[in-house]
Amino acid sequence: AVLYLHTSFYRRERRLMERLELMATTDVLTGAGNRTRFEEDFTRYLMEADRYDRPLSIVMLDIDHFKRINDRYGHAVGDSVLRQVAKVVETQIRSADALYRWGGEEFCVLSPETMLEGARESAERIRIAVAGADFGAVAEVTVSLGVAQWQAGELADALLRRVDGAMYAAKQAGRNRVELAPPFDPD
Ligand code: GH3
Ligand code: MG
Ligand code: MG
Repeated sequence: AVLYLHTSFYRRERRLMERLELMATTDVLTGAGNRTRFEEDFTRYLMEADRYDRPLSIVMLDIDHFKRINDRYGHAVGDSVLRQVAKVVETQIRSADALYRWGGEEFCVLSPETMLEGARESAERIRIAVAGADFGAVAEVTVSLGVAQWQAGELADALLRRVDGAMYAAKQAGRNRVELAPPFDPD
């Protein structure tokens, strides 16, 4: 009986820890992974990609003219648009992919075992799905996306800079677009 009490206590404790861990790594507004989970997963995926010589891709996306949406319809509607965008993205990614709220109205998707072309296709699917989704009172919601594949020897920060640069290029090119990052330059 003592042993039983002992194991059931630790089983409950473990379940509680798992719930706390999930809460601590989930974005409350959108249900996407938060920055903490991103850092953890990103580090692990990079290590695995490096160790097993497997591809890893990342998609970064930012809502176009989101400030206008807030200004025109109010912050509550802006929040609901954020939630809906996250939902739409979730429907377009594979179960092995993971969505994170990077900050404000920026999200990213980590795609293990995925090469650049596969990630580009998924980004394009996301772009089309968001542009075609019904946001009720908000007439037009689009996103700009950057795509990059990790390359051997590339550090985490360098990969993030590349994908962020690609997203910025998508904005510059007129928004509601997908841009690929230029190849990693080791120098
Ligand atoms: P761009 O197309 O260049 O991305 O323009 P933008 O207006 O989307 O970009 P900008 O970065 O200027 O504006 C982002 C806005 O997102 C500013 C900020 O008030 C709003 N925002 C950030 N987080 C939240 C949030 O949690 N809820 C709401 N409603 N708005 C948020
Ligand atoms: Mg924006
Ligand atoms: Mg932004």
